[in-house]
Amino acid sequence: MKSFSQQTKEPLILAENNSPCCDRAELFGMLLFAGSISGTSIKLISESSLVADKFCSLLNKLFGYIGDTVKDGKYFAVYCNDLGVVAKCLYSLRLCENNIKFRITPEVIEKDCCKKAFLRGAFLGGGTVIDPNKNYNMEFLTRYELLTEDFLHFLSSLGFSFKKVKRKDSWVVYAKVSDTICDVLTYLGATLSYMEYVNIKIEREVRSNLTRISNGETANMDKVFTASAVHIKAINKIQQTIGLEELPDELFELAKLRLENRDLSLGDLGALLSPPLSKSGVNHRLKRILAIAENL
Ligand SMILES: [Zn+2]
Repeated sequence: MKSFSQQTKEPLILAENNSPCCDRAELFGMLLFAGSISGTSIKLISESSLVADKFCSLLNKLFGYIGDTVKDGKYFAVYCNDLGVVAKCLYSLRLCENNIKFRITPEVIEKDCCKKAFLRGAFLGGGTVIDPNKNYNMEFLTRYELLTEDFLHFLSSLGFSFKKVKRKDSWVVYAKVSDTICDVLTYLGATLSYMEYVNIKIEREVRSNLTRISNGETANMDKVFTASAVHIKAINKIQQTIGLEELPDELFELAKLRLENRDLSLGDLGALLSPPLSKSGVNHRLKRILAIAENL
């Protein structure tokens, strides 16, 4: 079965950019989060053959590179050792050949259209979104700490609040707030995943509210039963010693009702009295009964 991430990525892989500036930004996002580039080679590794194919097609569109996705263990890889293509790519991404840093080049993501394409590329390369039935979590994985700084800054410029944490020798940029994840999915254009996410989120909230309510009710019921048991013990004592008939009329009526309706709250008991009595009135009378029993 496809994971929620794979499901989310598929339509994004198929999405076509409207201009080369966005192709470049998307390729950059993929390269930063799933690839590497040196003065002599470009490489991308992905768990998804579709993602690798997409990278290949972007290299072709932008720099005329004709290459293929190859299987590399359980991964899929794209290797490009064509020096001309590498040079064009470095120049296009404004990366300095002698000192390549894995950081976001601001020129590449200047335009709004490119920002979106860049984030899509980053998500395809190193992003994961967990099935909301399990957990609310979206994350981007990279080995480059400075890239995480740039990326957090980029995300926050789009209004998305993410955090970072170190995990073994990698850095994780993550969000655990469902609203943030929904916003990113919408921004990326992952409409179906967004709708599924929202539906699951609503279901989860309804379920947890129900649990909370029923826990609250159980707690209340427990209180009712405990109090009721105390009253009944006292009433039984009165019955076995002096007899209930010895009680004043208003206490006699209540004592009988209490015996007959052990699971009713004080308010409900009060409603059965004639004339009806408030909860605090019932409480007051029960206290008188308790006091009488205590003195026997
Ligand atoms: Zn663009």
